[in-house]
Amino acid sequence: MRGRMMDTPLLISSLVEHASRVHGDQQIATRTVEGPIVHSTWAEVLRRSKQLAEALTGAGIGTSDRVATLGWNTQRHLEAYYGISGMGAVCHTLNPRLHPTQLVYIMNHAEDRALLLDTTFVPLAEAVADELRHVEHYVVMTDREHMPETSLPNAVSYEAFIETCPGTYSWPSLDERDAAALCYTSGTTGHPKGALYTHRSTVLHAMGVAMPDVFNLSRDTCVLPIVPQFHACAWGLPYAAAVAGSKLVMPGPRLDAEGLTELLESEQVNFCAGVPSVFLGLIQHWRASGGAPSALSMVLLGGAAPPQSLIAALEGEFDIEFRHGWGMTETSPLGAVNTLLPAHRSWPVEERSAFQTKQGRAPYGIELRILGQAGEVLPHNGQAFGELQARGPWVVDGYFGSDETPLTDEGWFPTGDVATIDSEAYVQITDRTKDLIKSGGEWISSIDVENMAMDHPDIAMAAVIGVPDEKWGERPLLIAVPASETKPTKEAVLEHLAGSLAQWQLPDKVIFVDSLPMGATGKVQKTQLRKEYAGG
Ligand code: AMP
Repeated sequence: MRGRMMDTPLLISSLVEHASRVHGDQQIATRTVEGPIVHSTWAEVLRRSKQLAEALTGAGIGTSDRVATLGWNTQRHLEAYYGISGMGAVCHTLNPRLHPTQLVYIMNHAEDRALLLDTTFVPLAEAVADELRHVEHYVVMTDREHMPETSLPNAVSYEAFIETCPGTYSWPSLDERDAAALCYTSGTTGHPKGALYTHRSTVLHAMGVAMPDVFNLSRDTCVLPIVPQFHACAWGLPYAAAVAGSKLVMPGPRLDAEGLTELLESEQVNFCAGVPSVFLGLIQHWRASGGAPSALSMVLLGGAAPPQSLIAALEGEFDIEFRHGWGMTETSPLGAVNTLLPAHRSWPVEERSAFQTKQGRAPYGIELRILGQAGEVLPHNGQAFGELQARGPWVVDGYFGSDETPLTDEGWFPTGDVATIDSEAYVQITDRTKDLIKSGGEWISSIDVENMAMDHPDIAMAAVIGVPDEKWGERPLLIAVPASETKPTKEAVLEHLAGSLAQWQLPDKVIFVDSLPMGATGKVQKTQLRKEYAGG
């Protein structure tokens, strides 16, 4: 028997409609690319995203056409999320930190017909425009006054593009399984691949993200996504904030510690989310400038493993609740969040922060399992480690433009991460499958060694890679960035590591460098390090 309930499709347009209807006066603040901080509302974002949909329709963009964005986190970029997907086109966020040849590959592969870009990225677009085979329209996300001189064909400022449109557009009633947004993975091997989100997956993910044990969003939340809108849709925050009616604060291009701290303070932000490397800079700035922003009560770090010392500093020194998240572009990205159980909360900071290095538990909507080398499903005992696999309504089942399925026969997505799962369902990522180091038949987790190295007060960043070794197969090499001009000695670092690692797990060599090569989404590029140092 079929149930008797309305079959209302889960559409991205319904999110901004809801936010405007119920939380219309809730603020959206942006530090603009032009400089000043401006304030708007969800009602205004709805009207302007409709104007954008009208303008794009007028320019000949239709259902399923890909419209790319190359932008910072701003109100206009937020309107692009809603205007483009809402009208049934596909919002394709581009990562400006990619190499231009990769951008060209991705835009041609996606067959992007229009590009919305910030003034910052006009030179980048000009440099590759001749190679973009499908782009007909360039919309620069600024007003007439700030529109730069440009050689981009048919370039128009965003404000000029939308100004004559009435903003009375009626969103089409789409199939919730239609494509809504496209995001290519960083592509550490081979060509980048496009995760093609549906309206349904995006809305379900947004509701999952807003839950108390996940990002805990409500009308009272003032959220600043430091994570860029071009990195897995800013982890769903622009959509989840609409579900919950939260205030959004968009940092624009100023992602330096001073600029962020100023904005966190002036907008009274109480929740922000980003990758660990940004927070390492933030806490140093807070120490030097007399404290953390006054309203900030919770931060969520993900995208890479945060060192325990950073977690302990946030919770112990600055009294900010820390949450650890794990996910991938392919999982929309939310896959797990470490929120403490009541029993953990009374633990001393040292013990608690060690536990918080675990990536956490799957929210409703995600199932996780680990598999051994023979393909056997491993027990959740916190010891057995194997490849982490995921499934659920916001996990990819394939890639844009590809007939191949990445899924196992049983329909699970292999993440490429190696993990343990404990009896309380907390996942701990020990490595990427390709980053694990095998020494004398035993596995060494590069993440473990990195975390311990970064707990040394004189080390700011660390990466560990396996280098070929005749006797042992592979041996760990530690590449570290000193925290100040005084480098610690190799002996001091090894002595520190020997406090928690077995002798055979200790790196054979320690190299100090000024900086580590960072990928476009805030992860250390180990492929680059292997190229440089694999010779030992
Ligand atoms: P991306 O698709 O670019 O977001 O990259 C996803 C990958 O980032 C995952 O498969 C993990 O290898 C890594 N990652 C994400 N979050 C974490 C985390 N909290 N700890 C360790 N690695 C992470």
